[in-house]
Amino acid sequence: MASTLADRLSRLVKTMRGQARITETNVQEMLREVRMALLEADVALPVVRDFVARVKDKALGAEVVGSLTPGQALVGIVHKELAATMGELDEKGQLKAGASDINLHTQPPAVILMAGLQGAGKTTTTAKLAKHLIEKRKKKVLTVSGDVYRPAAIEQLKTVTAQAGAEWFPSTPDQKPRDIALAALDHARRHYFDVLLVDTAGRLAIDEALMAEIRELHATLKPVETLFVVDAMQGQDAINTAKAFKEALPLTGVVLTKLDGDSRGGAALSVRAITGVPIKFAGVSEKIDGLEAFNAERHAGRVLGMGDIVALVEEVTKGVDLESAKAMADKIKSGDAFTLDDFLLQLQQMKKMGGLSSLMDKLPTQIAAKAGANEMERAERDMRRMTGIIHSMTKLERRKPEIIKATRKKRIANGAGVQVQDVNRLLNQFEQMRDMMKKMKGGGLFKMMKKMGG
Ligand code: GDP
Repeated sequence: MASTLADRLSRLVKTMRGQARITETNVQEMLREVRMALLEADVALPVVRDFVARVKDKALGAEVVGSLTPGQALVGIVHKELAATMGELDEKGQLKAGASDINLHTQPPAVILMAGLQGAGKTTTTAKLAKHLIEKRKKKVLTVSGDVYRPAAIEQLKTVTAQAGAEWFPSTPDQKPRDIALAALDHARRHYFDVLLVDTAGRLAIDEALMAEIRELHATLKPVETLFVVDAMQGQDAINTAKAFKEALPLTGVVLTKLDGDSRGGAALSVRAITGVPIKFAGVSEKIDGLEAFNAERHAGRVLGMGDIVALVEEVTKGVDLESAKAMADKIKSGDAFTLDDFLLQLQQMKKMGGLSSLMDKLPTQIAAKAGANEMERAERDMRRMTGIIHSMTKLERRKPEIIKATRKKRIANGAGVQVQDVNRLLNQFEQMRDMMKKMKGGGLFKMMKKMGG
């Protein structure tokens, strides 16, 4: 998905550059691109629908006053919503920083049940978690394998448990998974282990016997955490597996493995939405320390294939004098005349934000490259020229541009170091803009500048 979504969005940002604000029409166009990109990335259809609906909601209600272009504002909204979809929200609906760690709030030993298909990475993740709990949470950890169908799986757990520095409880293929679990739990209690990690058998596909077995283990062990381990590279299969496990077990969290090999990133979106539980960790390598707390914000950036979009969005909001932007919007809404002073104010706000090209620098390279540096430079030059021309006008001229006739034009042009035709052009564009402003709530600068440049 990385390149696809970024590609689609950058094309869109470009086509929207001439547009002054977020409208029903351009949002629709953008959402079509987002929908396509997400479907291509194997995100489940209901998840895509829900996501698109939320972006639409936010976009139509968004203040674009002062932001670069509606296109970029929309990209910011998509980024934020991606993070919100994959991450955890607090009571106020804000994205929580970082991921939720393993819940150990229970009488020790805290039992953690690992569920998932064969090959998902359960055994590897069990050892990675053991290491995490030992090093970061200072816990005494025991592991046990309930995979009585594959002796090699039991041996594998023994090996990786040793690498993690945890203890391993032996089991054999002739035992019942339930008996193994009970014996391990008893051992953990008597030897004061804080945590018991239970690796389970996975089949290649969902089957009822497997589900019945893990449900029985769950009922026996009453784990404080039931983690669904899923391979991020599985695409649509990951979605079906997630559904089946969610129906069979009261899951408490997800571990998304092999994120290092996943180029499209869609699994995280689907799995979070379908299971309804937090993605707690991400597997990022085969090695025992290849486990990270899942960071939705960062993953959203990865999914978008973007540079520092967050910094860009912050920059846009920081530079804007929200007070005067709002005053301007109110004024326009109330139908008061838009004067050259208002025009100047808008130009100054653009400048305060560091100018167009400074903002362009913060855009991800894929997008910036396509936006066209020349056009940006020309727009900035025009912006400077317009500011100069308005500065050469008297207060009265700025309020009543209709009094600016030949003599005044000449004086203004001289003062600004431009030709009379530049003054004419500015006045023409100003008039057009005033008409346009009458028809809309705010913004408009960009469209106008584009016309002036062209
Ligand atoms: P299980 O059958 O669910 O227990 O899966 P395993 O733990 O045996 O893992 C299956 C394969 O995936 C092994 O080759 C692991 O090394 C590999 N694997 C597990 N987690 C990750 C990960 O996060 N990144 C990568 N690249 N490989 C992983």
